[in-house]
Amino acid sequence: MYYSRKRPLMDLPEEMTAIWSCTNVKCNGWMRDNFVFLIQPICGQCNSLMEKSEKMLPILANTSPNQTKN
Ligand SMILES: [Zn+2]
Repeated sequence: MYYSRKRPLMDLPEEMTAIWSCTNVKCNGWMRDNFVFLIQPICGQCNSLMEKSEKMLPILANTSPNQTKN
């Protein structure tokens, strides 16, 4: 694990996050696994099947009332 502290724009920590990515090579749709409640999700952009994958994403904090930065 390492944290890059020299990013000028974003200092959000990232982690490998479980996602679903579209199996259609012409489509770059994906969604966080957190937001998927189906066993086999369908791409919202092209209605193709999706497959489980991983992606480096900013850690998604639970909506905290004290943080309105987003
Ligand atoms: Zn798609």
